[in-house]
Amino acid sequence: MSKIKICLDAGHVGSKYNQSPVVKTYYESAMVWKLHLKLKAELETRGFEVITTRADIDTDLGVYERGAASKGCNVFISLHSNACSTESVDYPVVYRAYDNLNDVDVLALQIAKKIGELMGTNQAGRTATRKNSAGGEYYGVLRGARAVGTPFYMLIEHSFHTNTAATKWLSVDANLDKLAVAEAELLADYFGVNDTPKTEIMGEAHATAQQMALFCRSKNAEPKLTSCTLEQLAEIFLEEGKAEGVRGDVAFAQSLHETGYFKFGGIVLPSQNNYAGIGALNGNATGQAATFPDPRTGVRAQIQHLKAYASTEPLVNTCVDPRFSLVARGSAPYVEWLGAADNPNGKGWAVPGSGYGANVVKLLGQIMAQEAPESPSPAPEPDPLANYPDWQRNGLTALVKAGVINSPDYWANKFGEAIKVGEIIGILGKMMEQPTE
Ligand SMILES: [Zn+2]
Repeated sequence: MSKIKICLDAGHVGSKYNQSPVVKTYYESAMVWKLHLKLKAELETRGFEVITTRADIDTDLGVYERGAASKGCNVFISLHSNACSTESVDYPVVYRAYDNLNDVDVLALQIAKKIGELMGTNQAGRTATRKNSAGGEYYGVLRGARAVGTPFYMLIEHSFHTNTAATKWLSVDANLDKLAVAEAELLADYFGVNDTPKTEIMGEAHATAQQMALFCRSKNAEPKLTSCTLEQLAEIFLEEGKAEGVRGDVAFAQSLHETGYFKFGGIVLPSQNNYAGIGALNGNATGQAATFPDPRTGVRAQIQHLKAYASTEPLVNTCVDPRFSLVARGSAPYVEWLGAADNPNGKGWAVPGSGYGANVVKLLGQIMAQEAPESPSPAPEPDPLANYPDWQRNGLTALVKAGVINSPDYWANKFGEAIKVGEIIGILGKMMEQPTE
């Protein structure tokens, strides 16, 4: 998967540079710093690789050097708001290559117009060029980007911070979110980058325990759990997920995938309380994967293992995941990246695991679509005769029906025991007393 690489530049250094003369709380440098981080996140969600010219807001770097920092990138963008002496001037403008290198005006104009629509500027968005006396780019950042061969470079002026309405609009964080989304989408469309937002592993669960359990039961009426009910297990997933900031419903969906709706049948046994094959490596024999003392510990280990991939934050609970330290922290923040083959970082829970994350996402969608009744239906009692052959089970049913056995539960629980001669004579004798009609 080759990625489009974008270099973002927050136009000015410090938090208090270029104060607006009309809205005194507005500083261009602070706005563009926020905006470039939001845009970075939106671009990364869509599959771009993004670098920034400066590590923090107070780090200084010359304009030419900032443009030159885009060496090796496909795109360089410097973010700004404009200023002039006429309050009524209100339009976004995107400065692009003076010679329209790579036909950049198509993309630049789309961005300028879109910003104008979002901001509701008085004059429409437009593109422009500006040359210096030597015939090169006037703006140092663009000169630097051109010098290192960056194919697409732009300087975006988000209208004028000398216009009151524009400046007020840019002062609202939620509006910067809108700009970031719109600019990222235009770039994704232009470069044909997959614009499907991905599913973050960290965060709050969206599904309820009831939805999780009901969906699983619709696929497998008798999940093979040895020391808790399915409903209890679903609750444990949500509780353990919440403790570490991991989506418990994501982890549960992963377990449905790993265990086949808790049918197991692979090299992990139900009694191991290992619901996602931790330590079950290709070539292992049955039972060789990690074993956990109880369901909660098994779920905790899985949640911790997911957190190892999805985040660089420390664990809240003591580590019970035997393989936690083997994970490249933060290498797979999205469910879609859990299969190494699908992860641009080449890491993942499943190796090669092509389509692994997509399968989990699909199950998660089905869980969330599960309609739950108003009052939770109780879990069916486990069947103690599940492991006995039909001719023995049918025999019990027939004897109950015939009135020979009056306490079927008592006998069902003794199915695995040896029978005494007195007992069998008693049962056979009772059968002889039955009316024949
Ligand atoms: Zn500026």
